[in-house]
Amino acid sequence: MAVIAHLRFPGGKAKAFTLSYDDAVESDFRLADLMRKHGVKGTFNVNSGVKRMLYNTPQPDLGEPRCRMNRDSFMRFFEKNRDIAEIAAHGLTHAYFTKMEQSAVTWEVIADRKNLEDWLGIPCRGFAYPYGVYHDESVEALACSGFLYARTTKSTLGFEIPCDPLRWGCTCHHKNPELMNLAEAFLTLNPEKDRAPYLFSVWGHSYEFNQDHNWELMENLLSLVGGRDDIWYPTNIEFFRYIKAYRSLEYFADQSAVYNPTAIPVTLSVMVTRSQPQKLLTVNPGETVRIVEE
Ligand SMILES: [Zn+2]
Repeated sequence: MAVIAHLRFPGGKAKAFTLSYDDAVESDFRLADLMRKHGVKGTFNVNSGVKRMLYNTPQPDLGEPRCRMNRDSFMRFFEKNRDIAEIAAHGLTHAYFTKMEQSAVTWEVIADRKNLEDWLGIPCRGFAYPYGVYHDESVEALACSGFLYARTTKSTLGFEIPCDPLRWGCTCHHKNPELMNLAEAFLTLNPEKDRAPYLFSVWGHSYEFNQDHNWELMENLLSLVGGRDDIWYPTNIEFFRYIKAYRSLEYFADQSAVYNPTAIPVTLSVMVTRSQPQKLLTVNPGETVRIVEE
């Protein structure tokens, strides 16, 4: 008996799409409105200790389009968008981790987490490396500080499920000239044929749409990829919690049954022999489900 079980997302979907935007700037309001309009969720990475977060005046060095939120603005943003937005950490002061010793990195990540959890009253386990830079010491600091994933700024230009969540590279930045080609390729992937499932993930800063005068880029992307029945639209933390639950499943020795020890229902596509068609199987929290009929 050769049981083959592939990960599927909630509802049996084989594709997931996520967005991740950094630095908590005022234009995140506009971006979140766009996400909502197209049925897509997003992750917003915040530096809770940056002074500019506290003083909402236009920054002479950054210009009006790049204005960071103040605390009131940020709390309004969270209350308005909590159903579609993950607030994730981005380091207390947006420091350059590879030039710091590990204890300083640990402070940057744990103090940021503590602030955000105090302000929002929910756990904060997602992270994006400031400037995208990291070294082994920073990865260790994040792991010891309880983070489930940490986003780099590396582009994979692919749709693989990340195997190392603390060194996670998105598919691409929204400015990548391949963005719309990648979106088209993602839509045409056939889960029956290829190595599903797939993740298409995009990151950036919403102030870039102001600076580059190209909000239509995001409008076009979301018109194409958003609001579809065959795609799951989680925040990044929802995505990585799901992957963690999938990786926690406990199979019987002969793979004839599977137990879900987590609090998240997990869907699989299972095939008992290569000659049989795949079937969807959802394993609910605490349940043991037979894959092979007795
Ligand atoms: Zn940043």
